[in-house]
Amino acid sequence: MIEEIKMDYERILIVDDEEITRMMLRRVLEEAGYAVLEAVNGLDGVEVCLRERPNAVLLDVRMPVMNGFDACRAIRQEPAICFTPVLILTALDDVVAVQLAFEAGATDFVTKPINWALLAQRVRYALRARRIELQLRESETRLARAQRIARLGYWRYEMDADWINLSEELRQLLGGAARGMTGRELLRHVARDDWPRVNRFIRDLLRDRAAENEVECRVVLGEGQIRSLLVSADAARDERGQVNTLFGVAQDVTERRDAEARLSYFAHFDPVTGLPNRVLFRDRAAQAIAAARRKGNRCAMVKIAIHQFQKVSAAFGIAAVDQALLRLADRFQSVLGACDTLSRFEGADFVAILADIHDAHEAALIVQRVAHAGEEPIRLDGRELRVATTIGIALYPDDGADIDRLLHHASSAQTRVRELGGTGYQFHTADLHQQTMARLSREAALYQALERDEFVLHFQPQLDLRRRRITGVEALLRWRHPEWGLQMPDQFIDILEETGLIVEVGDWVIRQACQEIRALPLTVSVNLSPRQFRRPGLARRILALLDDLAFPVERLDLEITEQLFLRDEQEAIATLQALRDGGVRVSIDDYGTGYSSLGYLKRLPVSLLKIDKSFIKTLAEDRADQAIVRSTIELCHALNVSVVAEGVEDRRALDALAAMGCDVAQGYYLSRPLPMDRLIGWLEEASSAF
Ligand code: C2E
Ligand code: CA
Ligand code: CA
Repeated sequence: MIEEIKMDYERILIVDDEEITRMMLRRVLEEAGYAVLEAVNGLDGVEVCLRERPNAVLLDVRMPVMNGFDACRAIRQEPAICFTPVLILTALDDVVAVQLAFEAGATDFVTKPINWALLAQRVRYALRARRIELQLRESETRLARAQRIARLGYWRYEMDADWINLSEELRQLLGGAARGMTGRELLRHVARDDWPRVNRFIRDLLRDRAAENEVECRVVLGEGQIRSLLVSADAARDERGQVNTLFGVAQDVTERRDAEARLSYFAHFDPVTGLPNRVLFRDRAAQAIAAARRKGNRCAMVKIAIHQFQKVSAAFGIAAVDQALLRLADRFQSVLGACDTLSRFEGADFVAILADIHDAHEAALIVQRVAHAGEEPIRLDGRELRVATTIGIALYPDDGADIDRLLHHASSAQTRVRELGGTGYQFHTADLHQQTMARLSREAALYQALERDEFVLHFQPQLDLRRRRITGVEALLRWRHPEWGLQMPDQFIDILEETGLIVEVGDWVIRQACQEIRALPLTVSVNLSPRQFRRPGLARRILALLDDLAFPVERLDLEITEQLFLRDEQEAIATLQALRDGGVRVSIDDYGTGYSSLGYLKRLPVSLLKIDKSFIKTLAEDRADQAIVRSTIELCHALNVSVVAEGVEDRRALDALAAMGCDVAQGYYLSRPLPMDRLIGWLEEASSAF
């Protein structure tokens, strides 16, 4: 079977004005297997070239209309044919013509008279060079395209010259960098945070100690845009084994990293609300629990269920539910602390872990804010919708030591909310819940007590043991609540202290005490809480107040406790000094219950010491108490400090104290604290009895 072979001749264009030369050339070339085209001058040659696209052109120099140099230049300027090999025919001795030929862009030259035997070889050589060039160009283009697709760039670093050459693609990756630069210049493209890593990588590479041959680093493009490059490197060595060149590729992995980040985001966050999902929440909760354990603190597990969402989706559609959840998540988040974690588990169930909680009350305050946040109507597309929340709280470590127990107990507390009527919140332990609720309502009531005029003072008389006369009273605070009746300090002083209300209330006590006692020939003792005492400007404020009331300073006595000197002793002393300079007396209350060292009496400007009632109660029987009280009195007197005994409940204690030289006695045996009207009656009747 004979196959039809379609020969693909390579075509050569001959451009010469002499017909005889054209004929000769044609014969030689056709014999060598080429197809031949002809043109008679330069202009004609360029036109045929454009139309026929020959594989090579033979150009005579001297021709009418357009000479060979100009024709060559014209071919080089036509993009479609500019790479065509052009051989120029020049006279043998014309060196200038050869030079002009190359300047015009000729591929080669052929001398005249033509060496016919060599001509075909010359042409073949030019064609082959052209083919190789074409192949190279094509593979380069292909490589460049592949690199562009892979976002892969090459680099090569000559160590001695300190010079890096970058491939086109890598220059693009760096946001249009120069073709070459020094190592330092290149490093400037790298994000500063990554410098140590990159430097370490290069160092290890040079010492041949690199564990990996790639490093990832971020490069900074203009306008703060950042790209992640994965750079791989290899070292080449000179004949002595010294590294002289580093080279490698750099790949843009930004999109991959972004995708990974997105994946990891969805692995840890709820797509609807952007809150941590169950997986991340457990991790955060574990951290909160561990931190609480370490610090001996608490944390609270709070489950929040949102109800009536079925109605929302029925009325507004599913998308509205997502929107409502997002709003709620934002609100809840805004009332939580920075260390607390809020999460959505599924549906309309949120869970929060409150870190760094000291007691149930603190948790309750936060949960109250969460509950309020849930009550606010949600506006969607111009319509308002309301949801209800039930919240259950469990405390670590009180209700459980691990996440699952806490979650379980928080859920059961939530169930109890539902049983009890639907909305609000509950602690896991019913007791705790009651206590916390009581405390919260107390707190709320105290905020209004002052303006509602619910505070009153009772006064307890103090007997001067030498003169056997009532010379002073201690003012003691009472809270008359319209429903709960008369409240004693141990039921509310702590709350005043914690809320800071004590500062305002304390001012009221001093003013009130001075006003009430002014008409009587007595001194008045007022208790100062630590928070009040530590407030800057205390001495100045009190002195101004006394001045305002025209109350003699020496008739006021301020009682403070020793615990004040446990910290900031210097500041405490400065305040005491200022008070004493103003003429106000200061006494140490509850002596013997705390830190109890008389050593500080030497350093502190105090005028009175009140021995705590625990020593006085059993004074008559207990020899140890007697010894303590006696030596305390002696020491105080030596330091010019007077002594008051508190809690004198019977005659025997009173007599014993008198015998020991105690200055003043106070206690139920003399009188309970009394309101002013009864105090006046008491003073008239009973004082003569002592
Ligand atoms: P305190 O300063 O040690 O006050 C003496 C307490 O002992 C008073 O209790 C008083 O009623 C009680 N008491 C007096 N005589 C006897 C007795 O013979 N036997 C017994 N068992 N107790 C006696 P009260 O009024 O309940 O006050 C308790 C504490 O509340 C006070 O202890 C004081 O620390 C604080 N407090 C009272 N009023 C104020 C105030 O206006 N400001 C501040 N910061 N604290 C106050
Ligand atoms: Ca007192
Ligand atoms: Ca006391």
